[in-house]
Amino acid sequence: MNNFQAYIRVIKDRIAGLFCKHKYVEMVEIGTRFQCINGERVFIICEKCGKVKDSYFREYEGMGYK
Ligand SMILES: [Zn+2]
Repeated sequence: MNNFQAYIRVIKDRIAGLFCKHKYVEMVEIGTRFQCINGERVFIICEKCGKVKDSYFREYEGMGYK
């Protein structure tokens, strides 16, 4: 992919975001260097355009390493 195509793709993603009727789903972060064993950071992300609406920390209950 050359720079021009990459640029067009970014513009298209932006426009998709503007007109997106966001459909938010909860996702957890993967591929980080550290993994918390007490819980996980949950991101609320639009699965269509990738917009991050919010995030919160969810602690594991009951079945943690205690
Ligand atoms: Zn969206």
